Amino acid sequence: MKIIPCIIGFAGTLFIALQAGQAIAGGPAVVASIKPVHSLVAGVMTGIGEPELLVDGTASEHDYALRPSQAKALTQADLIFWVGPQLETFLIRPLTALAPSAGQVALSTSAGVQLLPVRDADTLREAQSVTDEKSHDMHIWLDPDNAAAMVREIAAQLQARDPGNATIYAKNAAALEVRLLASKHMIKARLDAMPTPPYMVFHDAYQYFEARFGLRPVAIISLDPERPPGAGRIRKLRRTILDANVACVFAEPQFEPRLIQTLTEGTPAKTAILDPLGAELHEGSGMYFMLLEQLAGSLTGCKAEITSETLPE
Ligand SMILES: [Zn+2]
Repeated sequence: MKIIPCIIGFAGTLFIALQAGQAIAGGPAVVASIKPVHSLVAGVMTGIGEPELLVDGTASEHDYALRPSQAKALTQADLIFWVGPQLETFLIRPLTALAPSAGQVALSTSAGVQLLPVRDADTLREAQSVTDEKSHDMHIWLDPDNAAAMVREIAAQLQARDPGNATIYAKNAAALEVRLLASKHMIKARLDAMPTPPYMVFHDAYQYFEARFGLRPVAIISLDPERPPGAGRIRKLRRTILDANVACVFAEPQFEPRLIQTLTEGTPAKTAILDPLGAELHEGSGMYFMLLEQLAGSLTGCKAEITSETLPE
């Protein structure tokens, strides 16, 4: 029963493309690393094709193992979009092994992307002890202005690979930029109208969102998302929760929730989920916008209290 609307939809797309005198067949094979990047790429490719997503569900961008089918998709891709080697470290080796003909686009180097320095988890000032190649925070996608710069880069790369569809990529990118601007204004108005209570986040993934919208956490729990904090740090954080009247401690679907329960037990702080990747959101061009709205909602409401049902063990 679902085939008929699908055929009509495809025929409609084909008709519009043929009317405009443009090719849609044979779009490039594209792979995107994380869901927010995939969403922006899918938006630029609307009407032409769909990129393949690597890091899905509650998997973390910092620690991922490619499935064999994904490793194969990488070898067959015309274009691979990722943030860069400082974020998706799991991609460094497979991408190095690929033929030079595969286009690899590290979006953190796109023109117009503003990079912020890595922060110290306690002082929230620029960290002093980081090496040069790790000196920038790579969670660049949570600033909608960075997303707009990434969209321009994605469109330019697709146009270079697939010039027959260049007009479609340009139109899609222009529409996305308009929507990104509208989304930024809407979220700013929402956050201005409802101040966030003092909060603590699991790992420092939200600096770009915070910088764009004038927010600031009390502290960051994890110094390194790949290593859990030790007992001494947990004691220190529990003291901070009480001293700074932290109202909300955010867990992430990508990491162990029991730590957050240990931290907040016996304190007035509530626990909730903040998700930089949109683990529960359906992939596609609308996902990026839902991700920003979801973050704004979680930060203002300290909503979605964690239970054993809502997070994986
Ligand atoms: Zn992260």
